[in-house]
Amino acid sequence: MAYKKYFTLSYDDGVLQDRRLVEIFNRYNLKCTFNINSGFFGTENTLIRLGKPVAHNKLTQEEAKKVYAGHEISTHSRTHPDLTKLNRWQVRKQIVDDIKKLSELAGYEVTGHAYPGGTYDRRTADILQDCGIRYARTVDSTRNFKAPEDPMMWHPTCHHEDEKVFELLEEFIGATPTDGDLLFYLWGHSYEFDYDVWGNNWEHIEKVCRMIANKDDIIYCTNLEFLNRT
Ligand SMILES: [Zn+2]
Repeated sequence: MAYKKYFTLSYDDGVLQDRRLVEIFNRYNLKCTFNINSGFFGTENTLIRLGKPVAHNKLTQEEAKKVYAGHEISTHSRTHPDLTKLNRWQVRKQIVDDIKKLSELAGYEVTGHAYPGGTYDRRTADILQDCGIRYARTVDSTRNFKAPEDPMMWHPTCHHEDEKVFELLEEFIGATPTDGDLLFYLWGHSYEFDYDVWGNNWEHIEKVCRMIANKDDIIYCTNLEFLNRT
């Protein structure tokens, strides 16, 4: 059997900047899993990044349905608490409510998750799995292209701001899978493109997409499609 190469994306929080990000992903035929807090639809918030205010306003339920069409919707808990600090009942409530609301919106059973704030442990992973979650993303970069050993603690390849992102993309593009499928898993938040880390960050994600897109030997998929690959 010949092994294959896959590329997947994962973006969190369901913010208004996802409108622009989805437009870019669609232009490059890339597939993303969007991790949403169903308790925050239509709410407004401001974060401080690099000493400046950054909008952290959320899409409404109605708009989310349209914006994320063709991509995957996944849970991020109802209201973004540190799940490792909650008791079992509270974790269940955060996830079961999110699954229910997001599944209604998506029109399919939502089974993915990204840990809010990136905190996780075995107990939390087990409770999530018990609620029907099949895979859950951490924020721990592997900087490698291996399929997850444990999808309930699915470590991404890197964040889009990783100083090695272009090096890793080049390595992946040139790689030939010899002893298993290869996966490049990139994650982030679209509001991060509104403040400058390396200059124009919207141009940064365009550059990432331009580099990786439209390769004959790469399959572009959501997280769920990767897990369901044959
Ligand atoms: Zn988040």
